[in-house]
Amino acid sequence: MLGLMQNQPLLISGLIVHAERHHGDGEIVSRRVEGDIHRYRWRDVARRARQVANALDGMKLLFSDRVATLAWNGYRHLELYFGVSGSGRVLHTINPRLHPEQIAWIANHAEDQVLCFDLSFLPLVQAVHAKCPGIRQYVALCDADRLPAGSGIPNLVSYEDWIGGQSTEYQWPSFDENSASSMCYTSGTTGNPKAALYSHRSTILHAYAAALPDVMCLSARDAVLPVVPMFHVNAWGIPYSAALTGCKVVFPGGALDGKSVYELIEGEQVTYAAGVPTVWQMLLGHMKPNGLRFSSLKRTVIGGSACPPAMIDAFREDYGVDVLHAWGMTEMSPLGTLCTLKNKHLAQGPEEQMKIRLKQGRAIYGVDMKIVGDNGEELPWDGRTYGDLYVKGPWVVREYFKGEGGDPLVDGWFPTGDVATIDADGYMQITDRSKDVIKSGGEWISSIDIENIAMSHPAVQMAACVGMRHPKWDERPIVAVVRKPGTELTREELLKFYEGKIAKWQVPDDVVFVDAIPLGATGKMLKTRLREQLKDYKLPSA
Ligand code: AMP
Repeated sequence: MLGLMQNQPLLISGLIVHAERHHGDGEIVSRRVEGDIHRYRWRDVARRARQVANALDGMKLLFSDRVATLAWNGYRHLELYFGVSGSGRVLHTINPRLHPEQIAWIANHAEDQVLCFDLSFLPLVQAVHAKCPGIRQYVALCDADRLPAGSGIPNLVSYEDWIGGQSTEYQWPSFDENSASSMCYTSGTTGNPKAALYSHRSTILHAYAAALPDVMCLSARDAVLPVVPMFHVNAWGIPYSAALTGCKVVFPGGALDGKSVYELIEGEQVTYAAGVPTVWQMLLGHMKPNGLRFSSLKRTVIGGSACPPAMIDAFREDYGVDVLHAWGMTEMSPLGTLCTLKNKHLAQGPEEQMKIRLKQGRAIYGVDMKIVGDNGEELPWDGRTYGDLYVKGPWVVREYFKGEGGDPLVDGWFPTGDVATIDADGYMQITDRSKDVIKSGGEWISSIDIENIAMSHPAVQMAACVGMRHPKWDERPIVAVVRKPGTELTREELLKFYEGKIAKWQVPDDVVFVDAIPLGATGKMLKTRLREQLKDYKLPSA
């Protein structure tokens, strides 16, 4: 017997219809590429998203055709999120920090037909357009009078011209909720990029889950600043969850330096912000020397790479801001776990609580996880045993776009490439990526622990730990360090700093001072590149 409830497909158009009808006056604030601040409301997003849909219909774009963006977080990008997916096309957000060759490769692989870009990426589009014959319309996200003359880009129109003449009426189509809605290529730290292809259903379920109290806890009383980019895994789904909850949204555009982000947080009375650790490092780096405080910020979600304890401390102790550590991946839409305390932890002291806060957190309902050993056997949840982390759920990939890389699943589970422990309370802690794990004398050493300790030293700006071949131990860790300007940290001082913080055998064998740690397009450390740079390095102990 089937249930007798209405069978309405879960579609992204439903989110914008809801936002317009139930919180149409909710504010959307954007720092524009032009430098000024733009303000309007959810009802304006809805109206202009319908114009986007009409423009795409006018081009005779078919169901599931791809529309690409190269854009910062801003209101026009938001309109594309709803107009493109809502009308049945697939929004392909491209990461502008990738190499032009890679961008051209991705655009061709995705078979993009339209490319919408912020003017700051004009040189990038000029560099790639000749290599992307499939793109038949270029749209510069600007007013008509800002359209650059003589750019050499064919079929270029300003966004305002493109949608300006379109009707504001549009009947959103209804279709199978499993249809593709958007796509994002993995950051490409391993081999050719592969695309996760999200569906309307996966996106809506993820949007519900992301808003939950123990996840991002979004409400109509929040003002949310997604610093995490809309070009990488849909800004952790915040645009969708915001339409669902009716919170105010504040977009930073391309100004991600500490001063700009701080001014936006204060100016717009942001209550909640989300981003990767490097962005918060810049924010705290601006605030401390200038003696600045937050007047509205209550919590921040930090994920994408491990959050250093010193950062959690600074936010909590110095500024009274709650830090929620999150973990996920492109292949997971992206949210998998989030770290919030359980009731029983509330009575614990700050040190005990900190041990929990440093973990990546508990699985969000909708994501199941397990850790497995070398023979595929499931490992115990004891908080000590390390294993390969596998996940499954309705917003986890089943297969990559065009079947690239073959079947990624193992017995229905997606192997994340991360190595983790899970404790008896279900808190997962990443200890490494499987390719980055350091195994010394048969024992795992967490490069993240080694980096976190180095980063808590006042003279260290950035640290990356890698394993080096060793004749006896197989691998030994070393740590590459960028010193803060004006400091004079020595190798011996830093190695001494490790004493008592981790087991002796886990202390890195050496410190290598470098000018910069190579970063990938999403701000993550590129250990493969670092290892290449250190290929002639010899361990003193080897
Ligand atoms: P991406 O698909 O580019 O978002 O990268 C996903 C990967 O980033 C994960 O598989 C982890 O290796 C890493 N990652 C994400 N969040 C965290 C976190 N909170 N702590 C440690 N690593 C993380």
